[in-house]
Parts: sequence; C-alpha cells; structure tokens
Amino acid sequence: MYKGTNASAGIGIGKVVVVEEQELVIKREMVTDPQAEIQRFKGALETSMKQTQDLAADLATRVGEKEAEILNGHVMLLSDPMLTGEIETMIMNDQVNAEFAIETTCTKFADMFASMGDELMQQRATDMRDIKTRMQKVLLGVESVDIAALPEGSVILAKDLTPSMTAGIDPENVTGIVTELGGRTSHSAILARALEIPAVVALAGVLEHVKNGDTIIVDGSIGDVIVNPEADVLAEYQGKREVFLREKQELEQYIGKPSITKDGVHVEIVANIGKPEDVDKVLQYDGEGVGLFRTEFLFMDRTAMPTEEEQFEAYRKVAVAMDGKPVIIRTLDIGGDKEIPYMGLEKDENPFLGYRAVRFCLDRKDDVYRPQLRALLRASAFGNIKIMVPLVTCIEEYRQVKALVEEIKNELDSKRIAYNKDIQLGIMVETAAASLIADIFAKEVDFFSIGTNDLTQYTMSVDRGNDKIAYLYSTFNPAVLRSIKRIITCAREAGIMVGMCGEAASDPMMIPLLLAFGLNEFSMSPSAILRARKMITEYSTEELQAVADKAMSFATTKEVEDYMKEFVNQ
Ligand code: PEP
Ligand code: MG
Repeated sequence: MYKGTNASAGIGIGKVVVVEEQELVIKREMVTDPQAEIQRFKGALETSMKQTQDLAADLATRVGEKEAEILNGHVMLLSDPMLTGEIETMIMNDQVNAEFAIETTCTKFADMFASMGDELMQQRATDMRDIKTRMQKVLLGVESVDIAALPEGSVILAKDLTPSMTAGIDPENVTGIVTELGGRTSHSAILARALEIPAVVALAGVLEHVKNGDTIIVDGSIGDVIVNPEADVLAEYQGKREVFLREKQELEQYIGKPSITKDGVHVEIVANIGKPEDVDKVLQYDGEGVGLFRTEFLFMDRTAMPTEEEQFEAYRKVAVAMDGKPVIIRTLDIGGDKEIPYMGLEKDENPFLGYRAVRFCLDRKDDVYRPQLRALLRASAFGNIKIMVPLVTCIEEYRQVKALVEEIKNELDSKRIAYNKDIQLGIMVETAAASLIADIFAKEVDFFSIGTNDLTQYTMSVDRGNDKIAYLYSTFNPAVLRSIKRIITCAREAGIMVGMCGEAASDPMMIPLLLAFGLNEFSMSPSAILRARKMITEYSTEELQAVADKAMSFATTKEVEDYMKEFVNQ
C-alpha cells in the first residue's frame, strides 16, 4: 500500500497505464561503424514517418482535415533531403550516434526558424522540435501514449500531468489517476475533481513499483494506492466503491433545497468551472450559479489564442445556460503552473511571483485583455455575468482594469452594442497584500472572492505544488485563518458580497468556520455542492461562533485541524 495526497474522492479500480513525458537525455556518443548508424537513423526515420502518417489519418477522421494538416507538415519535414542529408553527414563525419546528430541538426534549424520572428516561422520551429523528439523516441524505444484514446478501465500513472494533458482525458475510460508530483490544489488535481475521477497525487517514487497492465486500486478519498491486490482486498475495495456511489446518490435529495442554516442564514453554493461544457455538471448538482470560471482553460490545448468571437460564444453559452443566476468569470490567469506555449512568455525565474495573471494582461492590453473584456461585456447582455480580476496586489491594478472596462463600455455604446451597464467588477483576494488592504479594496470593488489556493501559498511562502513542503501548506494555519477572517470582516463592514472559490470552500472542516465568519458564497467543484449543502443545513451560525473563537485561539495548524476534525466527527 502506498500513501499519497487525496486529490479527488472515490475509488478507482483498473489497469495501470504509465504516461511518461520525460525529458529525453541525449548524450554524444562515438560510433565505430558510422554506416551502420546511418542505417539505424534511416530505420527510425521510416518508423517516425509511418507513425506521423497514421496519426494524421486518424486525426483527419476523428477531428478534421484542418487539424491533420500540422501532422502532414511534419511528414514533409521528415522527408526533406536537406535535413536528413545533414544528419547523415554529421553521423559520417563526426562519427556520432544518430540521437545526437538529430539533436544538433534539428535544434539548429529550429533556432534558425525561431529567430526569424514571425508566427509562421515560430510554428515551423515547434514542428522541427516535435519531429526531433519523435525520431529520438523511436531510437530510444520510448513510447508515447495518446491520453485521449486509452482503453476502458485505465488508471493513469504519471510523474506529473499538465493541465492540458488532464483536459484530454476521457472520464468514460479513465477510472483513476496517480501522480508522483503535484498537490491537492495543483490544476491537474482540480481537473480530476471536475471530471469526478478518483485521484491520488504526491506519491513519490510510485513509478518504480508499477508496470503497464498491473491491477491497481486508487482510493482518492483518503490517498491510498494498492498495486496488484489480493482477491480479498480487491473485494473489499469493490464494496467501498459501491458505498461511495450509494452515498453520492443519497445526496441527491438535496437537489432543489435551499442552502440555509438552521438559524435561517442564506448562503449561495456555486460552482467552479473551466469550460462551457462543465455547466452540465453545475446544473446536474444544482449549483446556484458559477463562482469561478477559469477562462485560461479556453486558451489551453490549442496553437493560438481564442478570438474575441470564440470567447464571446463561450461566455454567452454559460450565461444563457445559467439562466439569470450569477456567473463570475475570471479574466485570464496564466503563469505560475499554467503555461500557454504560444503566448511567447519567457521562463520566469520564480513563476508564481512573476509576470502572470493581471500583471500580464495589463501589459498585453491590445492583443489579450481588450478582446477578452470586450467579449465579456458583450456576453453580459445575455445573463448575469460578473467580471473577476485575479492576483490583484494593489488598488492601482484594479483601477487600471476598471478604466479599461469603462473605455470598452464607451466604445460599445458608440457602436450601439448591447451589454449590462451595471456589470459588477470584483477581485480575487488571493495575495497577502490584497488581504492586508482588504479594507481599502472593499470600498472600491463590487465583490470579493477568496482564493485560498494561492492565499495559502503566498501567506505561507510555500509553493502550492511542492510536496516536500506540503506540511506547511494548510488553510488551517493560524496565519491563513486570520487572513481569511479579516477579508470576510472587511467585506461585511463595507457591505459587499464575499465568496470563496479556493478549494477550502468545500472542505468539511473549514465550512463551519466560514459560516461563523460570515461568508456569503461558497464556490466549489460541482460534485462537491450537495455534500456542502447538507452540512450547511445542519449548522446554526450562532452556535458556530464559539467553535470559531476556539479554533482561532490555537497556535499551531495541528491544534486547529485536530479540533475541527473532532468537532465535525462528533
Ligand atoms: C485560488 O487561488 O484559490 C483559486 C481559486 O484560483 P486558482 O486555483 O485558479 O489559482
Ligand atoms: Mg489563484
């Protein structure tokens, strides 16, 4: 049995598929028979060509001709005599291994294309690097897995999954996810919850102990992973899986019920989404709105930015589907662990403290921020859209966004394009700075949403995805708790709405404290909504005041957690 971090609840049982996107290590090696090495290269070239042609044909039937074009371009590059000739010459003259000759030659061409600057040439550079890796993988015998086409009953094991890889997963076929890296709030974990796939993350070294085809149990509720279980253990977990699914079904009685405490305090339980299609789940679990639409997912998994029109359609779709219920849409929050290759961002030394989110958007007003804000304003004519700004640290940033929104409103007025003139503009409170001046922000902004995933990271100075220091990453740390309480109090005093869209909003141990502090809105993964509603209806905010006071009196995270665990379980 292996123990990791529980990242997405439920029990998954299936067969291991190891997904490796490891960096290839290419070394320069001398060869004694260059002719034989050239034959080795030619063999790999032929296999790569065949693989690419097959992939292109598959993509053309499954997705479309246009999508297959990139791969047909790769076939042309692979058959370019200038490239292959240069690789062969290098193997011959320098007596080096094929992997190294490919590395050197393809990198040279890729760098040359990249330096030409225009977009088409950038794409050629990316293509060149792609074919380089494909040929090297063939030579090294490294197989790559098409994550979107795994067989039914697969459990994915990987060092780490990027958000775009996770987004390609089909929940019909994937019954579990296990990764060596990441934490509960890494974006792949968040996506696993959205897809309702049981997941365990931060399980260091697990890849050494499994191979493709092993039977594996993933207990995403508590973080246990069992490889090749005995028959009795397998039966036990099949039983647990049924109990989990039954409890899930029992929660359905809370569909259509109000989210109201025993002493009559109404709160809103809304949903976090990443794509317009996620709205189906929000409606299925009776979400009272959308508390966070992470728009960066519209920008992922593609080769160019979505146009204003495409974005408008996506935002409009959500607004219409939610039929007048609030839909809080967050403007582009890239950087940190969310990379978008075509945005041309340089690697930051400290990505979480770097050029990202609103900082990036305000620097790229014309090509990035204006089109997004315009799409949002136009879509606001079709429902109850509110705009939310991520990673704000000072009031000037908010004022700049506000001014930009006003400018775009005027422009829409002059063109007689409809939008909601009273659209609200709020902020994520997720940095230590924003928390410390929450009183100042509360006087100017329309609403707050507390992003505890980042607030914890920035308050504790602990990378949210680093499992070595994960023991420091807790929303129950007294410093984080004080910050949360302060933000809620400042909002209440100024009379603005305050919600929470970080993962803590659905934590059973945190919900009683948030109710006591006076949080108005809880935003979470759709599948967590009914459980939260059940809890909320069982508490009285008056009774919870003493619990919160006690929780706030402790000096350590452990004391707070122990106390809340005992309180919730009693
Ligand atoms: C947060 O930081 O709490 C949050 C909700 O945003 P994200 O997880 O996308 O950074
Ligand atoms: Mg955040």
